[in-house]
Amino acid sequence: MVNFNNEFLVKEIKRRLSIINLIEGYTSIKKTGKGYVALCPFHDDHNPSMHIDDEKGLFHCFSCGAGGDMLGFYMRLNGLTFPEAVSDLAKRANIAIEKNTAPVKGHSQTNTLLKINSAVSGFYHRALLESRKGASARDYLEKRKIPSDIIKEFSLGYAPDGWDTLVTYLNKHNIPLPLAEKIGLVVKKQGGGGYYDRFRNRIIFPIRNVEGKVVGFGGRRINDSDEPKYINSPESEIYHKRRNFYGLDNSKDHIRRNKRAIIVEGYTDFLSLYSAGIKNVVATLGTSLTRDHVAMLRRYTDRIVVVFDGDESGVKAAVRSLDIFLEEGLLPGVVILPERNDPDSFLASNGTKELDKLIDTAPTLLDFYIDNTVSEYRNGDVTLKGAVKEIADVLVKVNDPVLRSSYIKKTAEKLGLGENEVLSLVRFGKGQWKAGGLKTPKTHSNHEKLMLNILLTYPELSRIVAEEDWEGCISDREIGSILEAIVVRGIHDVSSLLLSFQGSAAQGLISQALMSSPGIPDRDTAGKMILSCIRKLQRAKLDERLKSLRLGIDDAVKNKDAELEKRLLTEYTDLRKQK
Ligand SMILES: [Zn+2]
Repeated sequence: MVNFNNEFLVKEIKRRLSIINLIEGYTSIKKTGKGYVALCPFHDDHNPSMHIDDEKGLFHCFSCGAGGDMLGFYMRLNGLTFPEAVSDLAKRANIAIEKNTAPVKGHSQTNTLLKINSAVSGFYHRALLESRKGASARDYLEKRKIPSDIIKEFSLGYAPDGWDTLVTYLNKHNIPLPLAEKIGLVVKKQGGGGYYDRFRNRIIFPIRNVEGKVVGFGGRRINDSDEPKYINSPESEIYHKRRNFYGLDNSKDHIRRNKRAIIVEGYTDFLSLYSAGIKNVVATLGTSLTRDHVAMLRRYTDRIVVVFDGDESGVKAAVRSLDIFLEEGLLPGVVILPERNDPDSFLASNGTKELDKLIDTAPTLLDFYIDNTVSEYRNGDVTLKGAVKEIADVLVKVNDPVLRSSYIKKTAEKLGLGENEVLSLVRFGKGQWKAGGLKTPKTHSNHEKLMLNILLTYPELSRIVAEEDWEGCISDREIGSILEAIVVRGIHDVSSLLLSFQGSAAQGLISQALMSSPGIPDRDTAGKMILSCIRKLQRAKLDERLKSLRLGIDDAVKNKDAELEKRLLTEYTDLRKQK
């Protein structure tokens, strides 16, 4: 096996190739006073919004937020996985890939964990196909009309009933149980003394990453009396549910060919669509959609349709996902199935053609959101003022000015208002957002961004940060994970940092921080600035907690819950003192 995941190789590629030459092959580049700008190939760009820094080897689009190094650019543009991109660029740079280049730290362990998963996946698959006990699982899949070629393609399996079936298998094959525990296959017995199987009497869905490696498992109950309905592998070194889709390794070529991706909510929905011939589909894994998810799909297409169940939680999930898409500069279509339907039941009673039709004619998520808010207003659930404000808050985030003004017009028509009344609210929102009033959450993300900026420029300052209580007060998950990589894991070199966030939205944040001029004069000042950032974030966190305590106390008084009131009040006074 060629070992691609190699920091040395990546650095050698970057040393030999120029990011300017690479990007120039895809879009026209202009030299400006300070550097280079280009029309961004990742969104519909009319003014060059992409900045390229040849010396740092970075690109960043200040309109859609795409950014990273040349590998990131090449992967995203060509819809490639990391090893594919490294292999292409190494060829271009005339580097022969050695078979035994030194692996990066921790890599061999990752490989071992993946190998264990692959063996276990085979074990479960055989148990489904061959074992006598697997009959109930086979019956279940037959009832759900999942054909045998799909069972094979996705290596569906059966975890036998009993506490130590897998433990016995692992022992027999000399697979260390502590390693299996690391990836959640077995669980340590309480009070020490051995392990037991996590998945028992369940249908097993191996979760593969985009390269086809098994990173985790999902288990669905067969008996309705077993709780919970689904059990998934816990987060581990190799499995991050917020960064993985179910099925993408099988569907990515269909997505490329169809130039469209459909997102559903779980592996059973996925298999229903895939079996019905709608193969350009992926599923989230028991989590709502994240920016990493959207960034990952973008490698294959920017036309996305999300399909949600026809119930209240489906509508809520649709509304929640809107922000994520807008932040990534995308506007997906949305299908909310008719009431009390999920994709499986819809397909069973209406057929593939009907679902295809719904997908083809899906309104955009923004249209859906506006209509949903307008009907809330008509039902009397929100006031007119509340409805306009809610919609304006979302329209502020639409980057494209033409699109934004067409939605302002639509909103005004639907609510029977003048365009100006909506416009002024959107403008007001934008002003507030840019100027950053002290209490808006955006300000506190500005302090978070500044911290990132400083640490990327002066990574040695992470010593100061490590002594502070900073982790709890970072609210942006992506920024938090980059800071964690720098401060806790000690990754101080930009190339390695980008490498550890391959294909994730965090790359754009790193390139943005490095390419916007931070105005930090020297290290001493930077040290003072970063401490002041941490203080401000801590204070904001404290204020937030105080505010929610005040609301909680009000509620407790209203509900005459004296005990709760007392408890909250004690916490409140303690925190006030701290402040
Ligand atoms: Zn862009």
